[in-house]
Amino acid sequence: MYSWHQALWQQLQQARQAKHLPHALLFSGTDGCGHETFIEYLAASLLCLMPTANGQACGHCRSCQVLAAQAHPDFIRIATADDKQTIGIDQVRGLSHFMELKCSYSPCRVALLPEADALNHHAANSLLKVLEEPAGQTHLLLFTTQLSQLLPTIRSRCQIFRMSLPAPDQAIAWLKTQQTIQEPAHLLTLASGKPLTALSLDSGEKLAQRELFLQQLQQLCQGSLTCAQLSSHWEKQDRAELLDWLLQHLQQQLRQQYRDAQGWELYDRLVELKTLATHPLNARLFIENMLVLWVQYQTRRMRTKAA
Ligand SMILES: [Zn+2]
Repeated sequence: MYSWHQALWQQLQQARQAKHLPHALLFSGTDGCGHETFIEYLAASLLCLMPTANGQACGHCRSCQVLAAQAHPDFIRIATADDKQTIGIDQVRGLSHFMELKCSYSPCRVALLPEADALNHHAANSLLKVLEEPAGQTHLLLFTTQLSQLLPTIRSRCQIFRMSLPAPDQAIAWLKTQQTIQEPAHLLTLASGKPLTALSLDSGEKLAQRELFLQQLQQLCQGSLTCAQLSSHWEKQDRAELLDWLLQHLQQQLRQQYRDAQGWELYDRLVELKTLATHPLNARLFIENMLVLWVQYQTRRMRTKAA
């Protein structure tokens, strides 16, 4: 577990000891904060037959062993299938059925929904029914990066826990322990303070891809590349990641020119666009939308400078 999640961990373990751990826990945070590790630790801990004094899973009881073998009968993970961008109603029906079963190995049953943002409309409504009639000895662990986008009725039936990013010093200290090739502070800046994103940037390939993308953006504004060329080049790329690169680039610019109202307007529009990154939209269309916004902004900026 990451050091910046320790306080939240203690809070949850205390609630657990007092038998006050809620049925549905909704974690809200940003990608790149290490949330996957945290909720998986928590799931293992809740299922474990002999957790340590700190509440962590022991790693060798019957429950821990079947969990590691990905064959735990009291555990289910609901996530998007490889070829899909959303979680459908059938998956949530499966969850609902799972919740009704009796515990077989562990003291409780745990369902993990690390991509709550990906629930489609019908699936979200179906999940609501699961939340309305909580089965005993079950815990539903959800994670969202877009809390405000979830149905208010889902939010109100869960206890919400915020997962914050570490302070820059703490993140840099952690990156140092990962022996990054690049300078940790530089990586962290590129990753907008997200330590795990910073680490992934350190692997040369990601960094090179990001640099290529930014270089192509420049060529796009100079007119030596077109939006269509760029979007076809990047259509297989994770759209949210691509948009993050653009957001990070813009944020760095805005740090120097924080009065740039047009820049902040673009920033808001890109953040808005990000809510569509997981929708089953045409990838090229999504990228083109993003690029058009960028080109419009750069053109207006040039005009303002010239005036
Ligand atoms: Zn165990």
